[in-house]
Amino acid sequence: ARVRVMELETSPSATFEQVGGLKEEIEEVREAVEYPITRPEVYARLGVEPPKGILLYGPPGTGKTLIAKAVAHNASATFIRMSGSELVHKFIGEGAQLVRELFELARERAPSIVFIDEIDAVGSTRTHDGTSGSAEVQRTLMQLLAEMDGFDNRGDIRIMAATNRPDMLDPALLRPGRFDRIIEIPFPDAGSRTEILKIHTRNLSLGDIRLPSIVSRTEGATGAELEAICREAGMIAVRESATAIEEEHFDAAIRKVRHEMPEQDVRMY
Ligand code: ATP
Repeated sequence: ARVRVMELETSPSATFEQVGGLKEEIEEVREAVEYPITRPEVYARLGVEPPKGILLYGPPGTGKTLIAKAVAHNASATFIRMSGSELVHKFIGEGAQLVRELFELARERAPSIVFIDEIDAVGSTRTHDGTSGSAEVQRTLMQLLAEMDGFDNRGDIRIMAATNRPDMLDPALLRPGRFDRIIEIPFPDAGSRTEILKIHTRNLSLGDIRLPSIVSRTEGATGAELEAICREAGMIAVRESATAIEEEHFDAAIRKVRHEMPEQDVRMY
């Protein structure tokens, strides 16, 4: 019954074609997570141990979850997501048990990719100020470390974690044999924003639009915001019963979305 706190998807439908930019980051993730499942013999032949866990860090909405799902898709693996903050804040007293169940499930459904979002909630150095709950969080973290130490790098369970606050992570998580490969997923640059906008306008009827001008007006926007801008531009055009989605619709959408999501505190990451 507890399985409901985890999101489980058998071979998710996400693909790398849905990800704009991040080419190098994606290749690094595939080498650490996907190929050890799909081509284990190459690693074995060369005596190379793939990293057991990888950590993706960067602002929210930049594609970390999307990449993890696309990797699971390519590896035909079960994708199991658990939110570190839910684990700690919603299921108080059950954290360690849930972590145990998470890995049990991963073993049953292998090959699998375990994705722990907001890992900083479970393993951060600075939030535990001695208030109640910290001993419980500590137990949850200990269980996670024990589970990670308990299996083989070459196996078909791969662990990914994500955070916006890598600076807060408990060093125990980053030790060799744990999350020892760290990959930054940054804000998209102009080239990446162009690709992301193309992806999210694929199915839209566009008028005479100059993509570069939209790109230059969305500096600092994440993939998730760009997606929201495209959706909003479409809705504004619908409201006007327009024949196509025009640049003015994007202008209005940019103002709306960027106003709703002002230069967020994500910049702290
Ligand atoms: P969070 O830390 O908030 O979980 P995240 O980095 O995991 O954020 P995602 O959940 O992967 O972000 O992104 C949310 C949505 O935004 C994606 O499903 C996708 O539609 C869109 N998106 C984000 N980044 C990209 C990208 N690089 N290319 C295309 N779409 C993107």
